[in-house]
Amino acid sequence: MAVTYTKLFIDGKWVSGTAGKTFPVINPATEEKITEVAEADDDDVDVAYTAANKAFSAWRDFSAWERINRCLKLAELIEENIDRLAQLDCISMGMPINLCRTLIHRGIEEIKYTAGLTHDITGETSINTPGFLSFTLRQPLGACAAIIPWNVPAFMWIHKVIPCVVAGNTIVLKSSEKSPLSALLLAHLSHEAGFPPGVINVISGFGKTGAALASHHGFRRISFTGSTAAGKAVLEAAAKSNMKRVSVECGGKHPAIIFHDADIKDAAKSTAVNLQLNSGQACVANSRIYVQTGIYSQFIEEFIKIFTNVKMGSPLDPTTTFGPLVDKKQFDHVLRLIDEAKESGANPITGGGRATELGYFVQPTIFTDIPKGANLLRTEVFGPVAAIVQFETEEEVIALANDSEYGLSASVYTRDVSRGIRIAKAVEAGTIGINAASHENAYNMPFGGWKQSGIGREKGKSGLEEWYEIKAVNIKHTV
Ligand code: NAD
Repeated sequence: MAVTYTKLFIDGKWVSGTAGKTFPVINPATEEKITEVAEADDDDVDVAYTAANKAFSAWRDFSAWERINRCLKLAELIEENIDRLAQLDCISMGMPINLCRTLIHRGIEEIKYTAGLTHDITGETSINTPGFLSFTLRQPLGACAAIIPWNVPAFMWIHKVIPCVVAGNTIVLKSSEKSPLSALLLAHLSHEAGFPPGVINVISGFGKTGAALASHHGFRRISFTGSTAAGKAVLEAAAKSNMKRVSVECGGKHPAIIFHDADIKDAAKSTAVNLQLNSGQACVANSRIYVQTGIYSQFIEEFIKIFTNVKMGSPLDPTTTFGPLVDKKQFDHVLRLIDEAKESGANPITGGGRATELGYFVQPTIFTDIPKGANLLRTEVFGPVAAIVQFETEEEVIALANDSEYGLSASVYTRDVSRGIRIAKAVEAGTIGINAASHENAYNMPFGGWKQSGIGREKGKSGLEEWYEIKAVNIKHTV
């Protein structure tokens, strides 16, 4: 398919990077180059900041309705262009086309929900201090920055841009170097939707460009999603520059806990489908599965049936359910972890290697009998690899689930309501599902991590509130 937008979108115009550099985008299913896109360097980051900063005061002073209506118009245009957007993500990072569409639909719903929520972001009042009426104002921060990963590109663009701009801020977003194409089409659609020049700016580039955003002295806030290592670099750069507000959504190592009284077929289906999605390349993928003794063999039997039942093929084919990993680097990383797990003595009961001659496809792989403390139980795999571990008691499995530097999401399967609630309270994670997988999250609940899975929240009212500063106003009156 023809790719229309490949330049940087700054101040409502398409521009080449100041250094004139470009980089290739590769289709991971065919290993062929799709196109070249412009790469932003430090100077371009500065130009984009200047545009966003210049646009801020007029945008801030729009009525909430004027901002909301542009967001709703953008939702309409995304719906009209859903096939184009889905195809761009599909060819650049390998997600099956139907899943691309489903996620963009979720994005459209998120725009409508977040836009409506804006009406209710207000302040507090207090008359607790005699002689005073005090109240708070929630005001936008100014020009902000966002950095997104490659695994759900169009959805993540919406997730960052909409709450930022609907709150009255302006933004410079950097897409991932692996999947920059849908971000640029979304930039074009935002222009069509009537966002004034400079309100939404979209640039492409690698970690170096991201680092330039994080260490810039002008941006008032940066919202990052990606690996924990890069998240830490963003936090450090923000602290060393202008102490811009920071939120980081980072990696995960989701524990799914299956008790003996669970609906075993349902739990197997739920966890298998979760780990198949996007070929396991999800921060909320349940890559650690703890199964209680007594149902262990039965669970594995059911899990294998569903987890290995995939249709691999061209992600553009609507019947394909399982695509390649995003690129050679990710492919090598997953194969290395699989080899390391084999060497550690873990038992690969299915899969365990490359799936096709061409493209970065990895077989759905299941390990059992994993030695305690093995890297497979600690490192984020970001591939279709399940680690299944037996446990005896509730106390033991809580300790196992919490024995991780990550704390993004978790799930528990049981018919005992009290047990489900006890686990939900005990597990250290930002989101927990009871008889529900992490991809089934409610759209209006906050999302974010405990521990090294991140700082801050997105989605819901708490997510939107992060895009405002709070000011206390104290009015003295005669008594
Ligand atoms: P990554 O950290 O390599 O890259 C993410 C983004 O950060 C990219 O745009 C990249 O160019 C940029 N970047 C890299 N180094 C940087 C630096 N030093 N300073 C500033 N920016 C930098 O991650 P990835 O491989 O693109 O994505 C996969 C990771 O994202 C996984 O760890 C996954 O768990 C995580 N993720 C988290 C969530 C969440 O909501 N918690 C959602 C999706 C993905």
